[in-house]
Amino acid sequence: MSTRARQYDAQVLRRTSVSDHLVRLVLGGPGLAGFESTGIPDEWIGLVVPGQFQSRYYTVRSWEGGELTVDVVIHDVGLVTEWATRDCVGDTVVITEPKGSFTMPADAGWLILVGDLTAMPAMARITGSVDAPTRMWAEVPDDLADYLSPEVKVEWLDPPADGGSRLAEVVEGIDWPEGEGYFWMAGESAQMRAIRKHLMREVRLPSTAYDVMGYWRGGGVRQPRAVDPGPIWRAGKAAGKSDEQIWADYDRARDG
Ligand SMILES: Cc1cc2nc3c(=O)[nH]c(=O)nc-3n(C[C@H](O)[C@H](O)[C@H](O)COP(=O)(O)OP(=O)(O)OC[C@H]3O[C@@H](n4cnc5c(N)ncnc54)[C@H](O)[C@@H]3O)c2cc1C
Repeated sequence: MSTRARQYDAQVLRRTSVSDHLVRLVLGGPGLAGFESTGIPDEWIGLVVPGQFQSRYYTVRSWEGGELTVDVVIHDVGLVTEWATRDCVGDTVVITEPKGSFTMPADAGWLILVGDLTAMPAMARITGSVDAPTRMWAEVPDDLADYLSPEVKVEWLDPPADGGSRLAEVVEGIDWPEGEGYFWMAGESAQMRAIRKHLMREVRLPSTAYDVMGYWRGGGVRQPRAVDPGPIWRAGKAAGKSDEQIWADYDRARDG
């Protein structure tokens, strides 16, 4: 059986500006027949824009009435960035079937979300689908207060002027709630590796209590693949590997 992800052709039906650095694209058309959401709130698709063969990953902001909405961050440069900056309505793109990775245990008593602008679509969907008390830190250059439902308590952080991020400091300073909960974070890949180490070694969260996703890679190098950590966890656990060994396997799979 082929293990290739199923692909769909879709047309850009609408393009609107959400904020200075965020563009909303609504995709549709007959090519999306058969597309199904996984229901996992951080689910993503691969997107290939016209004239390109490389894909980039985007969160399914919504899938309703045959229309798929993605919110695309406009970076300084970038393959999808350049395309989405232009009027792309009417263009045909290729998307892959969705995958998700958010696996909050049903009995989790709290949820903590941390991310940059690229994580906002996933964090918005997660907060719209989870009832547990939630705290969230977002490092974004735009005013996105209206992007989330008003009851979500968010600490907004301005990104540092040097292009770096203070999210690692935020995580190191978290006053962790009592009891069992779930931590979800997405951002720059090297930083996410360091954060996982911190969670494993210092905070000692069990591996089932967090999901830390590298969403992009700094330094102008090839972007990592989006890999579902679930099967890698299960195989690693079955093989008796430590959490660190399993996350190293996950990073290798993403570099592949
Ligand atoms: C599972 C998953 C879900 C994602 N969901 C979304 C989403 O919903 N919306 C979204 O916009 N992105 C999302 N991303 C991130 C997105 O795939 C990357 O940011 C991607 O690199 C953007 O593609 P590009 O073609 O515009 O830029 P690229 O050609 O890939 O990169 C160009 C340059 O921009 C830099 N760059 C890329 N991302 C950032 C960033 N966040 N901050 C600063 N510099 C950056 C790169 O280092 C590179 O130098 C997701 C990633 C994953 C893995």
